[in-house]
Amino acid sequence: MKAIISERINGGRFKMSDEIVALMQTFVQDSSWKAEAGGILIGRHILDTLDIVVDSITVPMPGDCRGRYWFYRHRRGHQQVMDTAWRKSCGTCTYLGEWHTHPQPIPTPSFIDVHGWIRKLNLGTFVGESVFFVIVGLQALGVWEGDKRGRRISHIGEFNLIRKDIHGASG
Ligand SMILES: [Zn+2]
Repeated sequence: MKAIISERINGGRFKMSDEIVALMQTFVQDSSWKAEAGGILIGRHILDTLDIVVDSITVPMPGDCRGRYWFYRHRRGHQQVMDTAWRKSCGTCTYLGEWHTHPQPIPTPSFIDVHGWIRKLNLGTFVGESVFFVIVGLQALGVWEGDKRGRRISHIGEFNLIRKDIHGASG
């Protein structure tokens, strides 16, 4: 698996290393007993550019509520990891968004996902103008960008998890 690079809606790129994608892939729901998994995206807004880099993610923890078709994070556990990353990086590493899995070949956000994403945009409790959402399906990984000002969500990339030569797709 290669790194993921998506073109952002207003310029700049959204990047995720191959290690992070590989870690997400360990939670792919490729058997019927595997529940949804997820966590938060932690990373940096690169100075003097519009680039965003995901440096780490949280993974399911005790206290999360997991089913085949739902995933609810236990807020405190994930928040603690975020706070530690923020402190250790002297405030450079911040909350960038969220990720979760879907038992679908090509992931599409559910009504509940979109509702939750819009709510996040309305609350605006994140640094910068955008928040990112990743859904890991069985065959592909999708990236969405939520724009705080425009209050809209755009699909900014879809990456094949099976093929070796992955490419970003915009629109
Ligand atoms: Zn979902």
